[in-house]
Amino acid sequence: MNDLPNLSLTKMDQMSLFHPVSSIHDVQQNGPQIYTSAQGVEVTRDTGQTLLDMGAGLWCVNVGYGRTELVQAGAEAMQQLSFQHFFGGASAEPTIRLADRLLGLFRDTVSGSDMARVFFGNSGSDANDTAVKLVTYYNNLRGKPAKKKIISRKGSYHGLTLASGSLTGINGYHTAFDLPMKGILHTSCPHYFAFGQDGESEAAFTDRLITEVEDMIASEGADTVAAFIAEPIMGTGGVLLPPEGYFAKLQEVLDRHDILLIADEVITGFGRTGQWFGCGTYGLRPDIVSLAKGLTSAYFPMSASIISNRMWEVFASASEKMGAVMHGFTYSGHPVGAAIALANLEVIETEGMVENSAKLGPVLLDALRDATKGNAHVGDVRGAGLMAGVEFAGFPAGSAPHKIVAKHATAAGVLTRALPFMPVTSFSPPLCVTEAEISEAANRYAKALAAA
Ligand code: PLP
Repeated sequence: MNDLPNLSLTKMDQMSLFHPVSSIHDVQQNGPQIYTSAQGVEVTRDTGQTLLDMGAGLWCVNVGYGRTELVQAGAEAMQQLSFQHFFGGASAEPTIRLADRLLGLFRDTVSGSDMARVFFGNSGSDANDTAVKLVTYYNNLRGKPAKKKIISRKGSYHGLTLASGSLTGINGYHTAFDLPMKGILHTSCPHYFAFGQDGESEAAFTDRLITEVEDMIASEGADTVAAFIAEPIMGTGGVLLPPEGYFAKLQEVLDRHDILLIADEVITGFGRTGQWFGCGTYGLRPDIVSLAKGLTSAYFPMSASIISNRMWEVFASASEKMGAVMHGFTYSGHPVGAAIALANLEVIETEGMVENSAKLGPVLLDALRDATKGNAHVGDVRGAGLMAGVEFAGFPAGSAPHKIVAKHATAAGVLTRALPFMPVTSFSPPLCVTEAEISEAANRYAKALAAA
């Protein structure tokens, strides 16, 4: 054993921590970046430097850092009932109230939605694993055991467990781990800026993609395809907004072939796009909605899967015959997480953070357009609500300008995210961000661009 207490924190980290999604080489060479505190939209490092966090952690701290309402709700819930499992029908008040609240919110803000129940888990990845399992369960119960394949999209990000990592459509997450698993297919990435052909309108691009989905279903056989999974806006894949008419046309194809839609709202849920849910923003009518991140603003690891009525009816009517649904986790429905989520939703609602996201989205885009004006390597600036991306283009192959800019941005006092496999800087500040903070962050980003 190492004599760790005598080592510096940096050394201790290097000798004891296996960082997720990190280069071992980088951590060993350059050390970790250690954060010590955070408040509002600012985070502070052990060096004393304070930075504007334009990523809200990993797109997740929607209400901002240090909110005493959430801290108190968690402390009180822990004091009252520090844990309760939900197996075998056990239950607890905060979780019951949260399920009811989520159903109400979704019903009220996503027109045409018909959702019946909420299942809780711990992370976005396990929410998507739950979706895969429930789709399988659904078709087994319906006597359609061959209908199991799931279509995802190239460039998508759905998590990194075996199933969710397979749904993820980025090779960089697959190759070293022998993913994707059997039965997961990937159709083309709906990124018009990069993949629209010369002279092809955005609407024609959409039609081409939808035809490809139809062809894939036909060649696989509709009786083997169970579901299609999509982020309303693709996050890690590059902040990719759906091209014109995409979801309406996709939905029509899926309906025609009895294929379920799974909406991965792990990033887009809870105000990120300027509405409560991305399904509302882009007119999706899903059968399963995966939620995490903004559900608790990352004050507690928790996910939720909202299930449609038509799925629920199949589950419920088979219940006597099937017995218990053998899926769930120790922490499914954790009452402390639920209490924090309720406090979080209350803050979002009473402080008008969804409205702030809608109002300041255009301000963020304008600020980023100003900051990047005249930069020969910035090809596109796009976004919806408080979710934006700056895409670099026309740079020499093999270079990664967004990663160089991110380093300069950190030095200039703004945390941005250089996406791992796309030349894009993403911006997703806490939804409590002010116009002045956006302006300051954009100034710092402009300095970083100039220095890069
Ligand atoms: N789905 C989407 C759209 C995500 O962006 C993420 C994480 O960034 C996940 C799923 C996975 O969530 P987690 O990292 O909590 O497992």
